[in-house]
Amino acid sequence: MSEQAAGAQGNEVCGILIGYFRDDGTVEVTEASDAGPGAKSTPTGCWRDVDYVQKWIDEKLRRGDEKLRYVGEWHSHPSLDTRPSHVDVESLMGVASSPNYLCPTPVMVVLGLSTQGEEKLSAYSFAVEKPYKEIVWELVNETGEIRQEQ
Ligand SMILES: [Zn+2]
Repeated sequence: MSEQAAGAQGNEVCGILIGYFRDDGTVEVTEASDAGPGAKSTPTGCWRDVDYVQKWIDEKLRRGDEKLRYVGEWHSHPSLDTRPSHVDVESLMGVASSPNYLCPTPVMVVLGLSTQGEEKLSAYSFAVEKPYKEIVWELVNETGEIRQEQ
């Protein structure tokens, strides 16, 4: 996500998240897609290449175990303001309520990147007919060691 945001020259980048909804109420994100070659990207929005992302997720889920699934969305903001916009909130509420996504509690990760290259990452949880909430996060490496946390 950092690499993609840094290469976007002030435009937003975006993609989907796959991983696991754990029994303890946490979400483990294992991989983030890019937006694909047909994506549209501006300083205030990112529209992913739908066919590309669908192929990406189909391929990942086919190779993963049966609990691996779509868990939400991510995008960048070209500033350190990682609060979700109205469009962000509407979009994730749409995911939560859509039968197509089979994901009633999606997460949204927003990566803010300042022009000086500073980063701020925020995560939010959404559910139908509830206000969204900011959630704490940890960045964990393959051996379970915490590298960064909010
Ligand atoms: Zn946004």
